[in-house]
Amino acid sequence: MRFADLIAQSAERLAGIETRENGKLLREMRGQLQAVPDWLYYFGGLADKIEGRVIPLDRQSVLNYTLREPVGVVGAIVAWNSPILTTIMKIAPILAAGNTVVVKPSEHASAGVAEALLLAEEAGFPPGVINFVLGGAPVGTDLVAHPDVARITFTGGSAAGKQIATAAGARLARVTLELGGKSANIIFPDANLDAAEAGVIAGIFAAAGQTCIAGSRVMVHESIYEEMLDRIAHRTTAIAVGDPTDDGVQMGPLATLPQLARVERSVMEAHEDGDRIVAGGKRVLVPGFEGGLFHAPTLIEPKSPDSRVAREEIFGPVLAILPFRSDEEVVELANASAYGLAAGVWTSDVRRAHTIARRLQAGTVWLNTYRAIAFNSPFGGYKESGLGRENGIEAVDEFLQTKSVWCELDDAANDPFTLRT
Ligand code: NAD
Repeated sequence: MRFADLIAQSAERLAGIETRENGKLLREMRGQLQAVPDWLYYFGGLADKIEGRVIPLDRQSVLNYTLREPVGVVGAIVAWNSPILTTIMKIAPILAAGNTVVVKPSEHASAGVAEALLLAEEAGFPPGVINFVLGGAPVGTDLVAHPDVARITFTGGSAAGKQIATAAGARLARVTLELGGKSANIIFPDANLDAAEAGVIAGIFAAAGQTCIAGSRVMVHESIYEEMLDRIAHRTTAIAVGDPTDDGVQMGPLATLPQLARVERSVMEAHEDGDRIVAGGKRVLVPGFEGGLFHAPTLIEPKSPDSRVAREEIFGPVLAILPFRSDEEVVELANASAYGLAAGVWTSDVRRAHTIARRLQAGTVWLNTYRAIAFNSPFGGYKESGLGRENGIEAVDEFLQTKSVWCELDDAANDPFTLRT
């Protein structure tokens, strides 16, 4: 709780560091930092509610109960896009479960995480409970391979996630993985179209598309397709790109040069695949920031759902728009992805909303909203978007192991050659 209070008091300073590191809007990072303490309050409150069970066995002479014990040292490896939020999302349940943690932030955004974790010392955590190591993938690899690290929790790309799961699996260490996505945002004709339009824009252009939950595929019913294509294109073109510390700006730069190169490559691939670039598609020159990594918000109409822009995670401000004819078709289209992190559904038909929510292969489904998370609602991926869950009570389970304790209350000597059942 004290750690949370100290982060709350330092929110403005930490948000400023994060913006300077990853180029995301200052008001976005400020909002994240203001929410971060809630994770520590929630999981701090859960720490004294982790309980075992007394199990009623057939044999009344036995008392059998479970202890839920910490796993030991947990290695937490995080990405650069929401560095402090994702770090605290991990360490709050790790600590609540009684473990110690070694955090490895991204080499692209280590300072904010380090500054936030240093506050733990001031809060009174004993030395050695919260630790961090700095460096790139090789440091992460060492952490995953370390025999004293009982469990790994990772947020990052699917390629690194697979390598980590393989390395951890080789020594039977368990992993939690929060990976990438190619999330579908589905608009039915009976939706509030103004709200849907805003949700689509938020889904892909907030944070310049550099979020795992980016709604990078929008699927629009054919009866409103032309209208929505037009609306989204206008809105996309009107987005103010520039200095992320300026309150009037809506989209900052990409975080790194390779990230910008990935966005430019996806536009080039769209050309090769015969897709239509409806809006954007090129870099933006922002006066005063001539070397800046700015890219225009981009809307692409793929030639088919097989186009690379409609299938691959870009992690940038690139939206693919696809038409659909029926509920059946759109569920199939949305689920035809290697990923399954999130999905949005826009409709005023309650039956349809909940039916589609059940049928979508995604760890989070937002009905008439998008890009919302909370400390107490489970978050994680289906398929290649991950393993395990963060947030909510389930998150603590990831860092506990169960011990079954048997106590014989009858002191009779039993046949040593038979299993006691
Ligand atoms: P990344 O996978 O390159 O790196 C993430 C972290 O892992 C970094 O700290 C990096 O140093 C480390 N790392 C990289 N390779 C490693 C290896 N083989 N062994 C151990 N550690 C390794 O990802 P990134 O470019 O920093 O972030 C972008 C990706 O993260 C996107 O794919 C995005 O979808 C995903 N992401 C997912 C979530 C989520 O919650 N699901 C949230 C944010 C980002």
